[in-house]
Amino acid sequence: MEFQNTLEFAQKLDQQDKLNHYQSQFIFPQHNGKNVIYFTGNSLGLQPKSAQYYINEVMNDWANLAVEGHFFAEKPWWDYHERLAEPLSKIVGAKPSEITVMNTLTINLHLLMVSFYKPTSKRFKIICEEKAFPSDQYMLQSQVKHHGYNPDEALVEVKRREGEHNIRLEDILAKIEEVGDELALVLWGGVNYYTGQVFDMKAITQAGHKIGAYVGFDLAHAAGNIQMELHQWEVDFAAWCSYKYMNSGPGNASGCFVHEKHHQSNLPRFAGWWGHNKERRFKMEPVFDPVQGADGWQVSNLPVLTLAPYLASLQMFDEVGMEMLVQKRDLITSYLEYILHDIDTQIPDTHFEIITPSHASERASQLSVYLHGQGRKLFDYLMANGVITDWREPNVIRLAPVPLYCSFEDMYNFGQILKQGILFLNNK
Ligand SMILES: *Cc1c(COP(=O)(O)O)cnc(C)c1O
Repeated sequence: MEFQNTLEFAQKLDQQDKLNHYQSQFIFPQHNGKNVIYFTGNSLGLQPKSAQYYINEVMNDWANLAVEGHFFAEKPWWDYHERLAEPLSKIVGAKPSEITVMNTLTINLHLLMVSFYKPTSKRFKIICEEKAFPSDQYMLQSQVKHHGYNPDEALVEVKRREGEHNIRLEDILAKIEEVGDELALVLWGGVNYYTGQVFDMKAITQAGHKIGAYVGFDLAHAAGNIQMELHQWEVDFAAWCSYKYMNSGPGNASGCFVHEKHHQSNLPRFAGWWGHNKERRFKMEPVFDPVQGADGWQVSNLPVLTLAPYLASLQMFDEVGMEMLVQKRDLITSYLEYILHDIDTQIPDTHFEIITPSHASERASQLSVYLHGQGRKLFDYLMANGVITDWREPNVIRLAPVPLYCSFEDMYNFGQILKQGILFLNNK
């Protein structure tokens, strides 16, 4: 499509956009009486208007039924989490039995490591991304130490090549081959949080399995953002947080995937009563008999109040479907890219370097941009003028034009504010 950097053109794209009306189903922070332009849905998604209703429902059931709510609430609490499995299974490409919701992301990665990181003196290494999200690094280091190994030896990072911003798939696959039968686990991100690079999870999984390792993914920036086929790709396990692209609310619950092939296995796990055989859970039996499925990894009885807004959000995803979402995502991301290039050519002494891969198969709803010639002041200007974005040292802004609630007009307006900001700051 031939883009134009004009208000009319952006509005025309909005009129043609089948998801345009979803913008009004979210609550936006206000700036001068108008919705802000929100680019940080990769950090904390906006609140769906329906979330309040779902929370109130639980509050009312609690008020009216108290303990009876476990079984007689509008949506009974004892199996409330099971309602999330079906819509989530469509989002990540799994069977509902392979999905459960519990705890928070890093906690779940720790729990899944109990099952999928079983180092031996010969096979104890883990392959991960260079500069993975800090929580993942700490998690991996502590797991390795817990088993008595040295992180410097056991953790193998695949690095970017000199002068490159993204990690090449061929380098990941080569490293897996190289570590070979010393490799216990590949733990990788579906989408890199800093650059927005999307990884080929299918190829990584195949390569890991070929040399006999388990393969798991942290899908924090992938869930609700990219299309996946976790079941078909035979991924062993995965976990994600729900407050980023999934709009479930701050610090909210995490989703887990455990492949069907592991449901009957004797993998070690840390158990609790909510993972126990459903029919007999309340018989308070002394011996753990896990549910056959990802629910067998549950530990505690669930924080229903936090699952309620997550369920509200999932109903919206279910209505829209990942296919439509991804279509708009690619168009609006390309439009934002075009706007950035167009503004760039209009202003001397500035260069926007987009470090997110340019190929559609390797990027999703995020552009990470080096603002060469500009600094933190420009970011402050944007924030003061109704654009909520995110700043990372040295001078990178990350822009997530989330398809559910960002409009093409937002992209045009952002370009105008960006340009005004640079001209204003350069003339000062
Ligand atoms: C956001 C994010 C996290 C956050 O973990 P929590 O346990 O939810 O605080 C972890 N890993 C990655 C890759 C992330 O992007």
